[in-house]
Amino acid sequence: MSTSGTWINEVANGYGTTIEITRHLFSKKSAFQQIDLYETRKLGKLLMLDGIIQLTSFDEFAYHEMMAHLPFYTHPCPEKTLVIGGGDGGVLRELARHPELKELHICEIDADVIEACRRFLPETACGYDDERVRIHIGDGSQFVREHKGEFDIIIVDSTDPGGPGEPLFGEAFYLDLKAALRPGGVIASQSESPWLLPDIVLRLNTITRKLFKYADYAVMQVPTYPTGQIGMCVASDARDVRLQAAEPSEALQKELRYYNPEVRSGAFAHPRFVQELLEKARLQA
Ligand code: SAM
Repeated sequence: MSTSGTWINEVANGYGTTIEITRHLFSKKSAFQQIDLYETRKLGKLLMLDGIIQLTSFDEFAYHEMMAHLPFYTHPCPEKTLVIGGGDGGVLRELARHPELKELHICEIDADVIEACRRFLPETACGYDDERVRIHIGDGSQFVREHKGEFDIIIVDSTDPGGPGEPLFGEAFYLDLKAALRPGGVIASQSESPWLLPDIVLRLNTITRKLFKYADYAVMQVPTYPTGQIGMCVASDARDVRLQAAEPSEALQKELRYYNPEVRSGAFAHPRFVQELLEKARLQA
């Protein structure tokens, strides 16, 4: 398959993103979703699931570094992590930078996403090459229900609600996430843009504030996600999630292109319209 000067659109929630592609690398209808991989003119490679942009080579580091290192540096001594979703391997790649971690588990529902990313996006999917990685294929909501008290950090890197990710956006799932943590554990979950999907931001922040002693919301700039920004809920029963237990070593900091202690602090600083949303979540929790 090959195209030239063609534009693809992500159109959802009354908002559109248009990107010029130069080549259609891969296309498959899996048991769960339509998978497409493209070569773009300006943004490197692009992964779409059901017509929704999951990542581009251009800015995936911003999302994956924040999703992995923010919860990692919240926990003082993490050893065992779980990623739910995250089939592209980007969060795993970032977690694998930490020699302290002993086991990196991932539960992804769609084996075809993993296979396509390992084949066409090795610079992101290289996380799978780490020998500490254990892959589980299945629904993440069922996986956490069956694994109590096992993980120091759980990161939910899911697609948006509506498709197979739907069960990952409800209170029952967050109760199971909490139960799957070891004492002192931390969760972080993809929690949408406050500009585009304030209702989902409100819902997830209400759930985390209701269930955990400490819960907060951090944002990151990811230009190819709708509105250029996406947020994450971070929660723990053991510690204030705004506080860092540690910082990246000088050597690691030189490898990272987005996460650093100042960006981490700034990610929790919000304009009034987001502060009001989070206050509403606190009051209804
Ligand atoms: N960073 C992306 C974003 O914010 O849109 C998400 C990337 S990652 C590719 C999302 C993954 O979640 C997909 O591979 C999808 O198959 C997986 N997924 C969706 N629902 C799931 C579920 N219930 N259990 C496990 N994985 C799921």
